[in-house]
Amino acid sequence: MEALVKTEHGKGFMTIQEVDTPVPDKNEVLIKIKAAGICGSDIHFYDGSLTHCIPPVILGHEFSGEIVQVGDNVTRFSVNDRVVSEPHKGGCGLCRFCHTGQTEVCPEKRAIGYKIDGVFAPFITMPEASLHPIPDQLSFEHAALAEPLAVVIKGVLERVRVNPEDFVVVLGCGPVGLLAANAAKVAGAQSVVITGTDLDEQTRLKAAREMNIDHVINVQQDNLKETILSLTNGIGADLVVEACGVEAAINQAFDIIRIDGRIAAIGHTGRESLSMPWETALHKAAHVTWSFSSSWSSWEKAVSMLSERKIEADKIISHTYPLKEWGTAFSALEKLEAIKVLLVP
Ligand SMILES: [Zn+2]
Ligand SMILES: [Zn+2]
Repeated sequence: MEALVKTEHGKGFMTIQEVDTPVPDKNEVLIKIKAAGICGSDIHFYDGSLTHCIPPVILGHEFSGEIVQVGDNVTRFSVNDRVVSEPHKGGCGLCRFCHTGQTEVCPEKRAIGYKIDGVFAPFITMPEASLHPIPDQLSFEHAALAEPLAVVIKGVLERVRVNPEDFVVVLGCGPVGLLAANAAKVAGAQSVVITGTDLDEQTRLKAAREMNIDHVINVQQDNLKETILSLTNGIGADLVVEACGVEAAINQAFDIIRIDGRIAAIGHTGRESLSMPWETALHKAAHVTWSFSSSWSSWEKAVSMLSERKIEADKIISHTYPLKEWGTAFSALEKLEAIKVLLVP
């Protein structure tokens, strides 16, 4: 089969290569990939700014597909079943996290798309334990959003929680920010604000304005803090979701939460350390919760929300390209001309 391979570390070094079609072991299924989403991390592996991939490796970890072969021990899935899959082939099975049902944070987790081969390819094998069925009414394209949505659900709805009538601010309007704003609204937020910059105006802020998000703010045109204070009677936001990973925005999160407010930190900065307003955080008695990856329960909720059309997937998926045109797809994302891009092998 022809797959998109990151061949070595550094800028570029990505190419379509002929590789062996994988063969499922007795606990696995072989999946024909129908749609694969390009994640921000894939862009950073491509441009060399993220280096924790192990080349040569097929990139890609967000996908939906159809089972075409099952291993002998597989009992809950059959050929022709439509599925999405958590982005790993299981953990060590022995550590504290595996024993407490947190496989996604197992240090030995076999993560697809950077440690082991991923989904920018026609086929992948996955263990039965990583799969979630796709309901009939959910398309393969929309289902491919399950992974980033599950990350948002774990970070914002499970680890932090959106309470009814919360005033929520989402910093950043990439796919994760848009999904977070959408999910916060679904979870009962009274009002949701999303932010972006001049570079986001053409595509991402435009999509945000077309979605059911209460306030869309370009922070280079409007004063965010003044706007939030005026919308909250001078109190500040109950919850800020940090989904852009920019130092100035992270600092501003502490400025715009109310006293005793919450920050859900899910944006990657790509930096080991950066500044934060410690005294402001102390006087605000801020609750900050970081999160990464996605839990089994967040996947169940993600598939449910998508299939009930509570997520405006068509607004978030901006482009679909054949896998062979990955170069065009990656450059549209680098130029911020796209939001979520799907590759179809
Ligand atoms: Zn992702
Ligand atoms: Zn483990």
